[in-house]
Amino acid sequence: MAKDENHNHLQLETLMSNLPGMAFRCLYEKRWPMLFVSEGCLDLTGYSVDELISNEQIEYGDLIIPQDNPGIDREIRAKIERDRSYETEYRIITKSGKLKWVWEKGRCVGQNADGKLLLEGFIIDINERKRSERLNDALNKINKSISTEQDLEKMLNRVIETTLAIFNCDRAWLLYPCDLDAPDYSVPILKTADEWFLPPGYSLKNDEASRYVMGKMLKSQQPVAFYRSKEPFLPGNLVENEQVKSQLIQDIHPKMGKSWIVGLHQCAYEREWTDEEKELFKQINLRISDALNNFLYYNNMKEHEERLQTTLNSIGDAVISTDTKGHILQMNPVAETLTGWSFKEAKSKKLSEVFKIYNAKTRAPAANPVEEVLKSGKKTDLGKHTTLITPTGTNYQIADSAAPIKDLAGVIIGVVLVFRDVTEDYTIREALKKSEEKYRNYVENAPMGIFIVDSEAKYIDVNPAACQMTGYSRETLLKMKITELASPNMKESPYKSFEEVRTTGKSRGEIILRKKDGTDIDVQLTTIALTGDRFIAFCSDITERKTAEKRLEKEKRVAESANKAKSEFLANMSHELRTPLNGIIGFSRIMKDTPLSPEQEDYMEDIIFSSHKLVQIIEDILDFSKIEAGTFDFKYQEIELWNLMERSFKIIEPAARKKALQIELDKDNRIPGQVQTDELRLNQVFVNLLSNAVKFTNAGRITFQSRLLKETSATATVLFKVSDTGIGIPEKKQQVIRQPFTQADYSMTRKYGGTGLGLAITISILERMNSTLELESHPGKGSTFSFVIEFEKAQ
Ligand code: ADP
Repeated sequence: MAKDENHNHLQLETLMSNLPGMAFRCLYEKRWPMLFVSEGCLDLTGYSVDELISNEQIEYGDLIIPQDNPGIDREIRAKIERDRSYETEYRIITKSGKLKWVWEKGRCVGQNADGKLLLEGFIIDINERKRSERLNDALNKINKSISTEQDLEKMLNRVIETTLAIFNCDRAWLLYPCDLDAPDYSVPILKTADEWFLPPGYSLKNDEASRYVMGKMLKSQQPVAFYRSKEPFLPGNLVENEQVKSQLIQDIHPKMGKSWIVGLHQCAYEREWTDEEKELFKQINLRISDALNNFLYYNNMKEHEERLQTTLNSIGDAVISTDTKGHILQMNPVAETLTGWSFKEAKSKKLSEVFKIYNAKTRAPAANPVEEVLKSGKKTDLGKHTTLITPTGTNYQIADSAAPIKDLAGVIIGVVLVFRDVTEDYTIREALKKSEEKYRNYVENAPMGIFIVDSEAKYIDVNPAACQMTGYSRETLLKMKITELASPNMKESPYKSFEEVRTTGKSRGEIILRKKDGTDIDVQLTTIALTGDRFIAFCSDITERKTAEKRLEKEKRVAESANKAKSEFLANMSHELRTPLNGIIGFSRIMKDTPLSPEQEDYMEDIIFSSHKLVQIIEDILDFSKIEAGTFDFKYQEIELWNLMERSFKIIEPAARKKALQIELDKDNRIPGQVQTDELRLNQVFVNLLSNAVKFTNAGRITFQSRLLKETSATATVLFKVSDTGIGIPEKKQQVIRQPFTQADYSMTRKYGGTGLGLAITISILERMNSTLELESHPGKGSTFSFVIEFEKAQ
């Protein structure tokens, strides 16, 4: 028997020494005493062959953890009873104290001498497999909790709950959000931390210990374990009201948003976090991070998409996007209006069906822009004359462009078409083109020179008349500036009209142009601003008119100087006449006092009277010629207006009484006493008008009236009126009598005398006083002469 056993043993040893794991033969007993083990036992259990065989102190069965023992037993017993091989998985504690999962396959090979069952088989280390199975299992659970939840808060709560279950610890938590970008991981972290995900009753503490914990972990994105007994700064300080014995925490940084911290707490005992647990924790956090990324990205995309849609809906251009086959994917309201299709109807239809375009001129169907873009891979613009026709037959003239939509890798995934209704522009442009042709005709044939000038005063277009006028060819003119055509004889700057039209939009004036042959021409220039900082100048040659004007001007000057000479002569003559006349009067007076016959005395009276009359006439002529010669002097002084009126009135009083006329002086008491005026001249006006009134009135009344119209601190405005009940002046004569040497009725001259200069002198004097003589007269009823003077008040 022993020999057999030995033989078998050798055989097995040879066979099994190269197999993975541990081959064995043992007694089916509680402690699994090994009769044979292969060398693989060292790897599997940490014990050598010698240590495991015939060693009373340690048997293989002692390595199996007690919880797993009953299971193995059940398994084996069930199988061997039916004479079958068995398979089982269980955990052992290795020599170094590590827990290890193993898989065992064996069968019953008989009994030993004591009638005990003999088992043979082998045991393999399945720790790695088990580990990844557990990992997978846990991650599956996490994945499930992530995928079944749409709401972020709920999703995170589920993840944390699952994590808690996987680790079977006291608490799992998640802290959001943390400002991990703070320069030192100190105060801001704990201050900005939202307590949203903190379990109730937890408060964060910002102290050195907490900062240490955070600092140690932050940005590593690795699980960090803390143990109360080992760490100088106790992690329990992070959470105030609980004495956490050990914890595992990790920061995660989703691509968007702030950082998050995930943690596990063990409170009752100081749990040692194994490498496997750390790895699992890391994997879970990776999933959380991914989920957050997805969630945030999705949210962001959704927001992005909504914003894009709003933008599309609110822009003025029509937008349609298609896939690479030209099927419509998207369409904004403007596109709906212009195509006449609702998005609902147009969706998934071919673009060519919805977007029907033709050449506006030829009416031939226009090329489909999507096909063009797909072919070229580049942005394309439609032809200029594209007409879009809606299903109801409405035509729109459109301008558009189409561009490829590419994915991140640059692959074309669709086409976007942007277009706009330009019907109005198009119509205007076409009309403009026509009117431009017409305008060109006018310009070409216009009799006047037309120059178009740009903002730099350069000619950019001229018509044939302009060339003819200046003697330059069109080509030469188009190289010139306005200054080069201006004659040096021009007094004003040639830029004057240019500047004027720039500020006012229009200018008119006369300029002198120097022709190519060096001669000057006078030009009437009208400049008008055009759009785009350009100007159009119309020029007509006015040289002839100018020459005629100059001749006239000269003639007028000659005539004026002759007139002046005449007046001067008259003035001198009057003066010269007055001297001998005074002699005649003087000597007549002397002669009158000598003894004369009554008849001679009468003659002397007549001589003296006539001489006085003659002096008066000469005085008038002298005054008038002075006015004509421009040597009529005014002397302003302070006078008393009332006094002057009274004195003038007194002069005509005797003559009026002689004719038995009633006379009245009607003064306005409000008129200030002292005013500034030329007393002599104003007296002349009063006397002239009053004597005329007396002269041309045979019966009735003469009134001399004054009224204060307005008074300021410096001035007094007074109305004067001389009215009579005389013969009156026929209406048609009322203007003529204002002229010198004219009278209403020459037949009267004999009766009334006079030269017809009085009114002319009166009018001239009043003009100098900024006043005009008004007349109201009715033949047979009387006349009223009136005028208003604004006097400066005496200081
Ligand atoms: P003269 O009185 O020396 O003829 P005036 O220039 O003073 O010259 O007057 C011109 C003319 O106007 C008079 O000849 C007269 O025909 C007419 N005229 C002027 N004043 C009156 C008046 N108050 N009533 C009627 N006719 C008048």
